[in-house]
Amino acid sequence: MPSSHVVVVGAGVLGAALADRLARSGHDVALVEQIAPGHVRSGSGDESRLIRAGHGTDLLHTRMSRRALELWRELDPGLVAQAGVAWLAHREDGWERDTERTLRAEGVPCERVDAATLFPSVRTDGLAFTLLEPEAGILHARRAVQALAARAVAAGARLVRAVARPDGERAVLDDGTTLEADHVVWACGAWLPALFGDVVNLRITQQDVFYFGAPGPWATPGVPGWVDYDAAVYGLGDLDGRGVKVAPDVEGPPFDADRGERRVAPEHERLARTYLAHRFPALAGAPLVGARVCQYELTADSRFIAAAHPAHGGRVWLLGGGSGHAFKHGPALAERLEAWMTGAEEPEPCFGLGPRHPDVTLRTAGQDPPNLKEPKGV
Ligand SMILES: Cc1cc2nc3c(=O)[nH]c(=O)nc-3n(C[C@H](O)[C@H](O)[C@H](O)COP(=O)(O)OP(=O)(O)OC[C@H]3O[C@@H](n4cnc5c(N)ncnc54)[C@H](O)[C@@H]3O)c2cc1C
Repeated sequence: MPSSHVVVVGAGVLGAALADRLARSGHDVALVEQIAPGHVRSGSGDESRLIRAGHGTDLLHTRMSRRALELWRELDPGLVAQAGVAWLAHREDGWERDTERTLRAEGVPCERVDAATLFPSVRTDGLAFTLLEPEAGILHARRAVQALAARAVAAGARLVRAVARPDGERAVLDDGTTLEADHVVWACGAWLPALFGDVVNLRITQQDVFYFGAPGPWATPGVPGWVDYDAAVYGLGDLDGRGVKVAPDVEGPPFDADRGERRVAPEHERLARTYLAHRFPALAGAPLVGARVCQYELTADSRFIAAAHPAHGGRVWLLGGGSGHAFKHGPALAERLEAWMTGAEEPEPCFGLGPRHPDVTLRTAGQDPPNLKEPKGV
């Protein structure tokens, strides 16, 4: 598209990446954020996020993740801790086997390894094999969002602190200012349903993350990120002294991102401790040194939303539905979205509005996550 005026509302990873992309392509960009890029209540506002190419048989996300890894490194290599990600497979013929085949076909390095070589202590009973993606790792999430917003500003974008609401093809700020633009993109994370409930169908759920104190050998890098897809739990070692991260990936209860108290659910903590004690016995009884309440914005099929609003002739776009796995893709999705908005490429149908049907989940939990009493297979 020739240089145009674009308003991006929301400076989480998706909005900040898009503002950065468009500003560096020469567009006149205003990035409107109600609090601050990567703030604590945003879905992007945590210290760490896994980046892995493995997505079962899904080529689109496998490739997008690989492209994103390049783009994150271009932004700042220090944002990526290349610690590797280990897939703990319960079955020979499950998600991890599909992942392995896809990665090999795509030329993405991966190997079956002995899990005992990856962790200071690990119990492998119940595991069929462990698949390591050595080029995967962990993003320093909040810093990464701030870096995207800063590079957008350096490229000429204006960062505006305000609450915006849609008014047809315009964005109206809480001080009454109306922003007119060729395109307005609403990248509002968990706030999207309140603004566009007529066309967006998202479930917002409480997701708790736990950090446990552990000795030096548990440092990441060193210890890789890991995903136990069939048990719906993932984590990493101690990154920057934050503690060993363990996160149940079962769907939590409905959550209000504005008014919800950020207190973890006791059953989530119990689940994290049970898993830790089982899989990493040396950390049974490790002290809880931190916890964080976040939220997912779940679509029915765990595919994102990146689509033009049906009512505004391609001038209003909706971006979100991260479904617990969007962070890593931020810069690559922005690159694609620029092409869709300019008409250079047809939008990806799987990110469209309209009905979705439950499908294999692309986040770190299998299709049939266990209930909260016991992680499956533990
Ligand atoms: C616990 C947890 C673990 C995760 N782990 C991973 C992982 O390992 N790897 C991975 O790739 N992904 C992961 N994800 C998913 C990923 O973090 C999210 O999908 C992603 O951060 C969502 O980004 P976003 O930009 O859509 O939303 P957000 O980060 O929530 O940003 C939306 C922004 O819009 C702003 N906003 C909203 N409404 C308005 C308004 N009216 N006016 C102005 N501003 C507004 C908000 O303040 C906010 O800053 C995880 C998510 C959670 C919760």
